[in-house]
Amino acid sequence: MGWWKFWDKEQSSGPSPVAARAPGPIDPARAKPRPEPRRSSDPATERRIAQLRQRQAALRYDFAQSELALLPDNPWQDRIDLLGEAIATVEADIASLSVPRPSTRPAISPAPITAVSATAGDLATVTFAIGDEVFRFEEQVDWDQRGGPTVRGDLQPVAGDVERVIDPGFDLDDRRALRDHLTDSIAVFATDLRDRALSDEPLPTSPTLADLAMLCPECGGWMDWSGRCLACTRRDIERQRLRVERDRLDADRRSEADERHRLAEGLSTTRRRLTAVATDLTALGVDPE
Ligand SMILES: [Zn+2]
Repeated sequence: MGWWKFWDKEQSSGPSPVAARAPGPIDPARAKPRPEPRRSSDPATERRIAQLRQRQAALRYDFAQSELALLPDNPWQDRIDLLGEAIATVEADIASLSVPRPSTRPAISPAPITAVSATAGDLATVTFAIGDEVFRFEEQVDWDQRGGPTVRGDLQPVAGDVERVIDPGFDLDDRRALRDHLTDSIAVFATDLRDRALSDEPLPTSPTLADLAMLCPECGGWMDWSGRCLACTRRDIERQRLRVERDRLDADRRSEADERHRLAEGLSTTRRRLTAVATDLTALGVDPE
């Protein structure tokens, strides 16, 4: 047996790589230099040690996090507290949107809407009068790429001044609000007349100006011809948005609490795993610290 074979045998049967690094029997006749210790030339062992070191670092991080989670004052509790404050603010906003408001807008006179007419041709027209003021709406031509009208165009106001049907006794704020409201509500009314004409349904009998601005029982504002209150619709949308926000914050808060609980509960398991990794490293002749 050559000396190098003897050396190899010594290495592979030694108690540990550390022990294997101990000087072997001196052979005065040897001609070659002493080979590198096996551990540093064994890629599989080096890989295993690197994996264990990596796992040890990850477990040490988890262990520190677990210790932190067990302290009365910890980052998860801080975030839980902050999320709780944010949730309380959002819930206060939701509550303030749910409080009914007293009626603030004046009732509108039931002046009759007369001379109601709607024609359904290629371009529909709608006319009606409120007092002396005549309103007229016409569909606009909407051409497609082939040069023919294929879809119904928008109904556009071409005659009628909303200001002239507003009670001159109203104060400036009510006048402005009613002008905006009636501009929308009259357009909704005209569209309804057009749609009825298109589907051969009877036109409404005895409509009045008051039907275009009925008081909303919920907020005291005005509802349009279709019974929709714009202010309430906006408030409902905002309330829904806030509820989604509140639920999102609540989910974040639960996830922080779950994470803190998981880390605190995992302390002893992580300690056991760290001990096992240290044992494996020691067995490979590596200082586990
Ligand atoms: Zn309302």
